[in-house]
Amino acid sequence: MEWRDRAHIWILAFFCRKRRVSRSSLPGLSLPTSLSTLCPKLLCALRGCFASWRRTRIIMREGNVEYRTRKAQALRSFCANSASHRLPQKIGARSCRLIHPIRDVGHDKPAGQNRPEEQGWTSGPVGAHSDLQQIARRWKLMSMATAVAEPNSSVDADASIKGRVFDIQRFSIHDGPGIRTTVFMKGCPLRCAWCHNPESISMGQEISFLPDHCIGCGYCFRTCQRNAHQMIDGRHVLVRDLCAKCGQCATECYAKALEFVGRDVTAREVIDEVLRDKPFYDTSHGGMTLSGGEPALQIDFAEALLRMAREQKLHNCVETCGFCEWERLERMAAFVDLFLYDYKETDPARHREMTGVSNERILENLARLDQTGIPIILRCPIIPGVNDRDDHFEGIRRLAARLKHCNGAEIMPYHRLGESKTQRFGLDDKRRISAPTPDPNTVEEWKRKIEPYLFNA
Ligand code: SF4
Ligand code: SF4
Repeated sequence: MEWRDRAHIWILAFFCRKRRVSRSSLPGLSLPTSLSTLCPKLLCALRGCFASWRRTRIIMREGNVEYRTRKAQALRSFCANSASHRLPQKIGARSCRLIHPIRDVGHDKPAGQNRPEEQGWTSGPVGAHSDLQQIARRWKLMSMATAVAEPNSSVDADASIKGRVFDIQRFSIHDGPGIRTTVFMKGCPLRCAWCHNPESISMGQEISFLPDHCIGCGYCFRTCQRNAHQMIDGRHVLVRDLCAKCGQCATECYAKALEFVGRDVTAREVIDEVLRDKPFYDTSHGGMTLSGGEPALQIDFAEALLRMAREQKLHNCVETCGFCEWERLERMAAFVDLFLYDYKETDPARHREMTGVSNERILENLARLDQTGIPIILRCPIIPGVNDRDDHFEGIRRLAARLKHCNGAEIMPYHRLGESKTQRFGLDDKRRISAPTPDPNTVEEWKRKIEPYLFNA
Protein backbone atom coordinates (compact mmCIF):
# COMPACT_ATOMS: atom_id res chain seq x y z
CA MET A 1 0.00 0.00 0.00
CA GLU A 2 1.19 3.49 -0.71
CA TRP A 3 1.79 5.86 2.18
CA ARG A 4 -1.09 8.02 0.98
CA ASP A 5 -3.52 5.11 1.26
CA ARG A 6 -2.23 4.25 4.71
CA ALA A 7 -2.59 7.85 5.84
CA HIS A 8 -6.12 8.07 4.56
CA ILE A 9 -7.19 4.87 6.27
CA TRP A 10 -5.66 6.15 9.48
CA ILE A 11 -7.64 9.40 9.19
CA LEU A 12 -10.91 7.55 8.58
CA ALA A 13 -10.19 5.20 11.48
CA PHE A 14 -9.53 8.20 13.71
CA PHE A 15 -12.88 9.77 12.85
CA CYS A 16 -14.73 6.51 13.38
CA ARG A 17 -13.21 6.21 16.84
CA LYS A 18 -14.04 9.84 17.60
CA ARG A 19 -17.66 9.24 16.77
CA ARG A 20 -17.85 6.20 18.99
CA VAL A 21 -16.47 8.19 21.90
CA SER A 22 -18.89 11.04 21.35
CA ARG A 23 -21.81 8.61 21.29
CA SER A 24 -20.90 6.96 24.58
CA SER A 25 -20.54 10.36 26.24
CA LEU A 26 -23.97 11.48 25.03
CA PRO A 27 -27.03 10.87 27.13
CA GLY A 28 -28.91 10.64 23.82
CA LEU A 29 -32.66 10.46 24.05
CA SER A 30 -32.83 9.52 27.71
CA LEU A 31 -32.44 13.07 29.04
CA PRO A 32 -34.63 13.84 32.04
CA THR A 33 -37.96 15.34 31.07
CA SER A 34 -37.30 18.37 33.28
CA LEU A 35 -34.23 19.27 31.21
CA SER A 36 -36.14 18.90 27.98
CA THR A 37 -38.80 21.22 29.39
CA LEU A 38 -36.24 23.75 30.50
CA CYS A 39 -34.19 23.80 27.37
CA PRO A 40 -35.84 22.17 24.34
CA LYS A 41 -33.22 23.56 21.96
CA LEU A 42 -30.41 21.95 23.97
CA LEU A 43 -32.25 18.65 23.76
CA CYS A 44 -32.65 19.11 20.01
CA ALA A 45 -28.93 19.80 19.69
CA LEU A 46 -28.08 16.63 21.60
CA ARG A 47 -30.52 14.62 19.51
CA GLY A 48 -28.87 16.14 16.44
CA CYS A 49 -25.45 14.89 17.65
CA PHE A 50 -26.92 11.45 18.19
CA ALA A 51 -28.67 11.41 14.82
CA SER A 52 -25.51 12.68 13.16
CA TRP A 53 -23.53 9.82 14.67
CA ARG A 54 -26.12 7.27 13.64
CA ARG A 55 -26.12 8.49 10.06
CA THR A 56 -22.38 8.47 9.62
CA ARG A 57 -21.54 5.33 7.79
CA ILE A 58 -18.98 4.20 5.32
CA ILE A 59 -20.65 2.86 2.25
CA MET A 60 -19.52 0.79 -0.67
CA ARG A 61 -21.78 -0.24 -3.47
CA GLU A 62 -21.94 -3.08 -5.90
CA GLY A 63 -24.77 -3.03 -8.41
CA ASN A 64 -27.96 -2.87 -6.40
CA VAL A 65 -26.34 -3.90 -3.14
CA GLU A 66 -24.93 -1.43 -0.70
CA TYR A 67 -22.46 -2.32 2.06
CA ARG A 68 -22.42 -0.15 5.14
CA THR A 69 -20.23 -0.08 8.17
CA ARG A 70 -19.23 2.21 10.99
CA LYS A 71 -16.28 0.09 12.00
CA ALA A 72 -12.83 1.41 11.34
CA GLN A 73 -11.41 -2.08 11.73
CA ALA A 74 -13.70 -3.39 9.02
CA LEU A 75 -12.64 -0.60 6.71
CA ARG A 76 -9.01 -1.29 7.39
CA SER A 77 -9.24 -5.01 6.71
CA PHE A 78 -11.45 -4.46 3.69
CA CYS A 79 -8.89 -2.13 2.16
CA ALA A 80 -6.04 -4.43 3.11
CA ASN A 81 -7.69 -7.25 1.17
CA SER A 82 -8.66 -5.18 -1.82
CA ALA A 83 -6.97 -4.35 -5.04
CA SER A 84 -5.48 -0.87 -5.09
CA HIS A 85 -8.21 0.53 -7.33
CA ARG A 86 -10.66 0.15 -4.47
CA LEU A 87 -8.62 2.27 -2.12
CA PRO A 88 -9.05 6.01 -1.81
CA GLN A 89 -7.69 7.52 -4.97
CA LYS A 90 -6.60 10.89 -3.79
CA ILE A 91 -5.98 12.65 -0.54
CA GLY A 92 -7.28 16.16 -0.72
CA ALA A 93 -9.56 18.30 1.36
CA ARG A 94 -12.56 17.67 -0.84
CA SER A 95 -11.47 15.29 -3.52
CA CYS A 96 -10.98 11.78 -2.18
CA ARG A 97 -13.01 8.87 -3.49
CA LEU A 98 -13.94 6.10 -1.16
CA ILE A 99 -17.53 5.53 -2.15
CA HIS A 100 -17.82 4.43 -5.72
CA PRO A 101 -19.31 1.46 -7.52
CA ILE A 102 -17.11 -1.57 -7.04
CA ARG A 103 -17.36 -4.57 -9.34
CA ASP A 104 -15.64 -7.08 -7.13
CA VAL A 105 -16.74 -6.49 -3.59
CA GLY A 106 -16.61 -10.20 -2.89
CA HIS A 107 -20.00 -10.93 -1.37
CA ASP A 108 -20.23 -14.02 -3.58
CA LYS A 109 -16.99 -15.49 -2.25
CA PRO A 110 -17.19 -18.68 -0.19
CA ALA A 111 -17.42 -18.27 3.57
CA GLY A 112 -14.10 -17.61 5.25
CA GLN A 113 -12.64 -15.76 2.26
CA ASN A 114 -13.07 -12.16 3.29
CA ARG A 115 -16.68 -11.72 2.35
CA PRO A 116 -17.73 -8.19 3.29
CA GLU A 117 -20.19 -9.56 5.83
CA GLU A 118 -17.33 -11.28 7.63
CA GLN A 119 -15.50 -8.00 7.90
CA GLY A 120 -18.28 -6.17 9.67
CA TRP A 121 -20.11 -4.85 6.60
CA THR A 122 -23.87 -5.08 6.43
CA SER A 123 -25.68 -5.15 3.13
CA GLY A 124 -28.97 -3.68 1.96
CA PRO A 125 -30.59 -2.07 -1.06
CA VAL A 126 -28.95 1.04 -2.49
CA GLY A 127 -30.27 4.19 -0.84
CA ALA A 128 -31.87 7.19 -2.49
CA HIS A 129 -29.68 9.65 -4.35
CA SER A 130 -30.18 12.33 -1.74
CA ASP A 131 -29.09 9.97 1.08
CA LEU A 132 -25.91 9.09 -0.73
CA GLN A 133 -25.19 12.69 -1.57
CA GLN A 134 -25.64 13.67 2.01
CA ILE A 135 -23.38 10.96 3.33
CA ALA A 136 -20.80 11.70 0.69
CA ARG A 137 -20.82 15.38 1.62
CA ARG A 138 -20.61 14.63 5.26
CA TRP A 139 -17.41 12.73 4.60
CA LYS A 140 -16.31 15.39 2.14
CA LEU A 141 -16.32 12.80 -0.63
CA MET A 142 -17.22 15.32 -3.25
CA SER A 143 -16.56 13.16 -6.25
CA MET A 144 -19.25 10.77 -5.07
CA ALA A 145 -21.60 13.63 -4.32
CA THR A 146 -21.18 14.70 -7.91
CA ALA A 147 -21.43 11.17 -9.23
CA VAL A 148 -24.79 10.51 -7.60
CA ALA A 149 -26.29 13.86 -8.57
CA GLU A 150 -29.32 13.69 -10.83
CA PRO A 151 -28.13 14.54 -14.35
CA ASN A 152 -29.38 17.78 -15.90
CA SER A 153 -31.60 18.68 -12.94
CA SER A 154 -32.47 22.37 -12.48
CA VAL A 155 -30.65 22.19 -9.16
CA ASP A 156 -27.39 21.53 -11.03
CA ALA A 157 -27.91 24.71 -13.01
CA ASP A 158 -28.48 26.65 -9.78
CA ALA A 159 -25.37 25.25 -8.11
CA SER A 160 -22.96 27.46 -10.03
CA ILE A 161 -24.83 30.75 -9.48
CA LYS A 162 -22.63 33.10 -7.51
CA GLY A 163 -23.53 35.59 -4.82
CA ARG A 164 -21.85 37.69 -2.17
CA VAL A 165 -22.32 36.93 1.53
CA PHE A 166 -20.77 38.52 4.58
CA ASP A 167 -21.40 35.73 7.04
CA ILE A 168 -22.81 32.22 7.32
CA GLN A 169 -23.87 31.68 10.90
CA ARG A 170 -24.42 28.12 12.07
CA PHE A 171 -26.52 27.14 15.11
CA SER A 172 -28.56 30.29 14.91
CA ILE A 173 -31.65 30.19 17.16
CA HIS A 174 -33.12 33.66 16.62
CA ASP A 175 -33.87 33.63 12.90
CA GLY A 176 -36.84 31.30 12.67
CA PRO A 177 -37.91 28.05 14.33
CA GLY A 178 -35.44 25.47 15.63
CA ILE A 179 -31.72 25.37 15.01
CA ARG A 180 -30.82 27.10 11.76
CA THR A 181 -28.00 28.25 9.55
CA THR A 182 -28.40 31.91 8.62
CA VAL A 183 -26.86 33.16 5.39
CA PHE A 184 -26.23 36.90 5.58
CA MET A 185 -26.20 38.42 2.11
CA LYS A 186 -24.56 41.68 1.08
CA GLY A 187 -26.49 44.69 -0.11
CA CYS A 188 -29.48 46.57 1.32
CA PRO A 189 -31.75 49.25 -0.23
CA LEU A 190 -32.52 50.87 3.15
CA ARG A 191 -30.33 53.15 5.26
CA CYS A 192 -31.67 52.64 8.78
CA ALA A 193 -30.14 55.13 11.19
CA TRP A 194 -29.77 52.37 13.82
CA CYS A 195 -28.53 49.59 11.46
CA HIS A 196 -27.23 46.57 13.40
CA ASN A 197 -25.27 45.24 10.42
CA PRO A 198 -23.82 48.31 8.69
CA GLU A 199 -21.28 46.14 6.86
CA SER A 200 -24.19 44.58 4.97
CA ILE A 201 -25.41 47.82 3.36
CA SER A 202 -22.98 48.04 0.48
CA MET A 203 -22.71 45.33 -2.18
CA GLY A 204 -18.96 45.90 -2.14
CA GLN A 205 -16.40 44.19 0.05
CA GLU A 206 -15.22 45.88 3.24
CA ILE A 207 -12.07 46.01 5.33
CA SER A 208 -12.60 45.84 9.07
CA PHE A 209 -9.79 47.25 11.22
CA LEU A 210 -9.63 46.86 15.01
CA PRO A 211 -6.57 48.84 16.22
CA ASP A 212 -6.91 47.30 19.71
CA HIS A 213 -6.20 43.85 18.27
CA CYS A 214 -3.10 44.95 16.37
CA ILE A 215 0.10 43.35 17.69
CA GLY A 216 2.35 45.60 15.61
CA CYS A 217 3.89 42.85 13.47
CA GLY A 218 4.04 45.21 10.48
CA TYR A 219 3.04 42.64 7.83
CA CYS A 220 0.23 44.84 6.54
CA PHE A 221 2.64 47.76 6.03
CA ARG A 222 4.85 45.57 3.88
CA THR A 223 1.95 43.99 1.97
CA CYS A 224 -0.03 47.09 1.02
CA GLN A 225 0.97 48.44 -2.39
CA ARG A 226 -0.93 51.68 -1.81
CA ASN A 227 0.66 52.70 1.44
CA ALA A 228 -2.73 52.75 3.17
CA HIS A 229 -1.29 51.59 6.50
CA GLN A 230 0.54 54.46 8.16
CA MET A 231 1.89 55.43 11.56
CA ILE A 232 0.36 58.77 12.53
CA ASP A 233 1.22 60.28 15.91
CA GLY A 234 2.58 56.91 17.01
CA ARG A 235 -0.68 55.12 16.13
CA HIS A 236 -1.37 52.58 13.41
CA VAL A 237 -3.94 54.17 11.08
CA LEU A 238 -5.66 52.66 8.04
CA VAL A 239 -6.06 55.55 5.58
CA ARG A 240 -9.26 54.45 3.89
CA ASP A 241 -9.02 57.01 1.09
CA LEU A 242 -5.90 55.21 -0.14
CA CYS A 243 -7.28 51.70 0.38
CA ALA A 244 -8.43 49.81 -2.74
CA LYS A 245 -10.13 47.08 -0.66
CA CYS A 246 -8.06 44.36 -2.26
CA GLY A 247 -7.95 42.40 1.01
CA GLN A 248 -4.25 41.48 0.75
CA CYS A 249 -3.34 42.93 4.14
CA ALA A 250 -6.17 41.03 5.86
CA THR A 251 -4.79 37.72 4.63
CA GLU A 252 -1.45 38.59 6.27
CA CYS A 253 -2.90 39.69 9.61
CA TYR A 254 -2.63 36.73 11.98
CA ALA A 255 -3.95 38.77 14.90
CA LYS A 256 -7.26 39.28 13.03
CA ALA A 257 -7.02 43.03 13.54
CA LEU A 258 -7.77 43.27 9.83
CA GLU A 259 -10.59 41.30 8.26
CA PHE A 260 -11.94 41.22 4.74
CA VAL A 261 -15.73 41.02 4.75
CA GLY A 262 -17.75 39.89 1.74
CA ARG A 263 -17.12 36.49 0.13
CA ASP A 264 -18.12 35.51 -3.37
CA VAL A 265 -19.50 31.99 -3.18
CA THR A 266 -21.50 29.64 -5.36
CA ALA A 267 -24.90 28.38 -4.27
CA ARG A 268 -23.41 24.87 -4.09
CA GLU A 269 -20.74 26.01 -1.61
CA VAL A 270 -23.35 27.65 0.62
CA ILE A 271 -25.70 24.67 0.53
CA ASP A 272 -22.83 22.29 1.32
CA GLU A 273 -22.08 24.36 4.40
CA VAL A 274 -25.74 24.54 5.38
CA LEU A 275 -26.18 20.76 5.01
CA ARG A 276 -23.44 20.07 7.53
CA ASP A 277 -26.04 20.56 10.26
CA LYS A 278 -28.94 18.72 8.62
CA PRO A 279 -29.35 16.30 11.57
CA PHE A 280 -29.84 19.29 13.87
CA TYR A 281 -32.51 20.76 11.62
CA ASP A 282 -34.30 17.42 11.42
CA THR A 283 -34.50 17.08 15.18
CA SER A 284 -35.35 20.72 15.98
CA HIS A 285 -37.60 21.57 12.97
CA GLY A 286 -34.98 24.11 11.94
CA GLY A 287 -33.47 24.84 8.54
CA MET A 288 -31.93 27.62 6.50
CA THR A 289 -32.61 31.36 6.81
CA LEU A 290 -31.63 33.98 4.24
CA SER A 291 -30.97 37.35 5.82
CA GLY A 292 -28.79 40.34 5.15
CA GLY A 293 -28.75 42.93 3.92
CA GLU A 294 -31.71 42.19 1.72
CA PRO A 295 -31.80 38.75 0.03
CA ALA A 296 -34.07 40.08 -2.74
CA LEU A 297 -31.22 42.27 -4.03
CA GLN A 298 -29.38 39.11 -5.16
CA ILE A 299 -32.52 37.44 -6.40
CA ASP A 300 -30.94 34.82 -8.71
CA PHE A 301 -28.61 33.68 -5.97
CA ALA A 302 -31.36 33.73 -3.31
CA GLU A 303 -33.75 31.77 -5.53
CA ALA A 304 -31.06 29.19 -6.32
CA LEU A 305 -30.28 28.72 -2.63
CA LEU A 306 -33.94 28.34 -1.72
CA ARG A 307 -34.62 25.90 -4.53
CA MET A 308 -31.61 23.76 -3.63
CA ALA A 309 -32.54 23.82 0.05
CA ARG A 310 -36.09 22.80 -0.81
CA GLU A 311 -34.67 19.92 -2.85
CA GLN A 312 -32.94 18.78 0.35
CA LYS A 313 -36.24 19.12 2.25
CA LEU A 314 -34.99 21.97 4.46
CA HIS A 315 -37.32 24.46 6.13
CA ASN A 316 -36.70 27.79 4.35
CA CYS A 317 -37.02 31.15 5.99
CA VAL A 318 -36.38 34.59 4.47
CA GLU A 319 -35.90 37.78 6.42
CA THR A 320 -36.78 40.75 4.24
CA CYS A 321 -37.27 44.49 4.57
CA GLY A 322 -39.91 44.21 1.83
CA PHE A 323 -38.57 47.18 -0.17
CA CYS A 324 -38.18 45.65 -3.63
CA GLU A 325 -40.19 44.84 -6.74
CA TRP A 326 -43.01 42.40 -5.98
CA GLU A 327 -41.68 39.99 -8.64
CA ARG A 328 -38.55 39.40 -6.55
CA LEU A 329 -40.55 38.47 -3.47
CA GLU A 330 -42.80 36.30 -5.61
CA ARG A 331 -39.83 34.36 -6.99
CA MET A 332 -38.56 33.64 -3.49
CA ALA A 333 -42.03 32.89 -2.12
CA ALA A 334 -42.27 29.77 -4.30
CA PHE A 335 -39.68 28.08 -2.04
CA VAL A 336 -40.23 29.79 1.32
CA ASP A 337 -41.93 28.29 4.38
CA LEU A 338 -41.84 31.39 6.57
CA PHE A 339 -41.20 35.09 6.01
CA LEU A 340 -39.67 37.27 8.72
CA TYR A 341 -40.93 40.66 7.56
CA ASP A 342 -39.39 43.84 8.98
CA TYR A 343 -41.80 46.49 10.20
CA LYS A 344 -39.82 49.47 11.42
CA GLU A 345 -42.08 52.51 11.68
CA THR A 346 -45.81 53.21 11.36
CA ASP A 347 -45.58 56.93 10.56
CA PRO A 348 -44.68 57.24 6.80
CA ALA A 349 -42.80 60.54 7.24
CA ARG A 350 -40.70 59.20 10.11
CA HIS A 351 -40.12 55.98 8.17
CA ARG A 352 -38.61 57.98 5.31
CA GLU A 353 -36.55 60.07 7.70
CA MET A 354 -35.13 57.07 9.61
CA THR A 355 -34.66 54.55 6.78
CA GLY A 356 -34.31 56.73 3.70
CA VAL A 357 -37.37 55.24 1.94
CA SER A 358 -41.15 55.39 2.20
CA ASN A 359 -43.02 52.45 3.78
CA GLU A 360 -45.73 52.52 1.10
CA ARG A 361 -44.21 49.84 -1.13
CA ILE A 362 -43.24 47.75 1.93
CA LEU A 363 -46.87 47.63 3.09
CA GLU A 364 -48.13 46.91 -0.44
CA ASN A 365 -45.76 43.95 -0.76
CA LEU A 366 -46.73 42.72 2.70
CA ALA A 367 -50.42 42.68 1.73
CA ARG A 368 -49.65 40.75 -1.47
CA LEU A 369 -47.41 38.32 0.39
CA ASP A 370 -50.21 37.67 2.86
CA GLN A 371 -52.43 36.60 -0.04
CA THR A 372 -49.98 33.82 -0.95
CA GLY A 373 -50.84 32.06 2.33
CA ILE A 374 -47.21 31.75 3.47
CA PRO A 375 -46.88 32.35 7.24
CA ILE A 376 -45.40 35.72 8.18
CA ILE A 377 -43.80 36.96 11.39
CA LEU A 378 -43.45 40.73 11.74
CA ARG A 379 -40.02 41.76 13.03
CA CYS A 380 -40.06 45.11 14.75
CA PRO A 381 -36.79 46.77 15.77
CA ILE A 382 -37.60 49.10 18.65
CA ILE A 383 -35.16 51.97 19.20
CA PRO A 384 -35.45 54.04 22.39
CA GLY A 385 -36.37 57.62 21.57
CA VAL A 386 -37.08 56.80 17.90
CA ASN A 387 -40.02 54.41 17.53
CA ASP A 388 -40.85 53.29 21.09
CA ARG A 389 -44.03 55.33 20.88
CA ASP A 390 -47.50 54.07 21.78
CA ASP A 391 -48.88 54.92 18.34
CA HIS A 392 -46.23 52.66 16.74
CA PHE A 393 -47.04 49.76 19.08
CA GLU A 394 -50.70 50.31 18.23
CA GLY A 395 -49.71 50.28 14.53
CA ILE A 396 -48.01 46.89 15.00
CA ARG A 397 -51.13 45.46 16.68
CA ARG A 398 -53.42 46.77 13.94
CA LEU A 399 -51.19 45.41 11.17
CA ALA A 400 -50.86 41.96 12.78
CA ALA A 401 -54.64 41.81 13.21
CA ARG A 402 -55.23 42.78 9.57
CA LEU A 403 -52.99 40.06 8.08
CA LYS A 404 -54.62 36.66 7.59
CA HIS A 405 -51.41 34.63 7.79
CA CYS A 406 -49.47 36.53 10.41
CA ASN A 407 -48.10 34.27 13.16
CA GLY A 408 -47.39 37.28 15.37
CA ALA A 409 -44.87 40.07 15.86
CA GLU A 410 -41.40 39.93 17.38
CA ILE A 411 -39.78 42.80 19.25
CA MET A 412 -36.11 43.33 18.31
CA PRO A 413 -34.63 45.57 21.02
CA TYR A 414 -31.90 47.99 19.96
CA HIS A 415 -28.32 47.02 20.73
CA ARG A 416 -25.17 49.07 20.26
CA LEU A 417 -23.10 46.56 18.29
CA GLY A 418 -23.80 48.49 15.10
CA GLU A 419 -22.08 51.59 16.52
CA SER A 420 -18.76 49.82 17.04
CA LYS A 421 -19.09 48.16 13.63
CA THR A 422 -19.48 51.56 11.98
CA GLN A 423 -16.06 52.51 13.35
CA ARG A 424 -14.48 49.15 12.54
CA PHE A 425 -15.51 49.40 8.90
CA GLY A 426 -14.82 53.14 8.64
CA LEU A 427 -18.38 53.77 7.42
CA ASP A 428 -20.15 57.08 7.12
CA ASP A 429 -21.92 57.64 10.46
CA LYS A 430 -23.43 61.10 9.96
CA ARG A 431 -26.97 59.73 9.91
CA ARG A 432 -26.33 57.21 12.64
CA ILE A 433 -28.24 57.67 15.86
CA SER A 434 -26.87 56.63 19.21
CA ALA A 435 -29.45 55.29 21.65
CA PRO A 436 -29.12 53.62 25.05
CA THR A 437 -29.52 49.85 25.23
CA PRO A 438 -32.97 49.19 26.74
CA ASP A 439 -33.07 47.33 30.05
CA PRO A 440 -35.00 44.02 30.34
CA ASN A 441 -37.95 45.65 32.16
CA THR A 442 -38.41 48.14 29.34
CA VAL A 443 -38.33 45.34 26.78
CA GLU A 444 -40.97 43.41 28.74
CA GLU A 445 -43.13 46.52 28.80
CA TRP A 446 -42.81 46.87 25.01
CA LYS A 447 -43.79 43.24 24.59
CA ARG A 448 -46.89 43.71 26.73
CA LYS A 449 -47.94 46.56 24.45
CA ILE A 450 -48.26 44.31 21.41
CA GLU A 451 -50.02 41.42 23.12
CA PRO A 452 -51.92 39.33 22.10
CA TYR A 453 -49.92 39.47 18.84
CA LEU A 454 -46.55 38.93 20.51
CA PHE A 455 -44.55 36.11 18.94
CA ASN A 456 -42.00 34.60 21.30
CA ALA A 457 -39.20 32.77 19.52
S1 SF4 B 1 -0.83 42.71 10.09
FE1 SF4 B 1 -2.43 42.96 11.66
S2 SF4 B 1 -1.35 42.74 13.61
FE2 SF4 B 1 0.23 43.10 12.03
S3 SF4 B 1 0.55 45.33 12.07
FE3 SF4 B 1 -1.00 44.92 10.51
S4 SF4 B 1 -2.96 45.12 11.59
FE4 SF4 B 1 -1.38 44.93 13.14
S1 SF4 C 1 -7.11 46.19 1.43
FE1 SF4 C 1 -5.43 46.32 -0.07
S2 SF4 C 1 -5.25 48.49 -0.52
FE2 SF4 C 1 -6.47 48.33 1.36
S3 SF4 C 1 -5.00 48.53 3.01
FE3 SF4 C 1 -5.22 46.34 2.60
S4 SF4 C 1 -3.59 45.84 1.13
FE4 SF4 C 1 -3.83 48.07 1.16
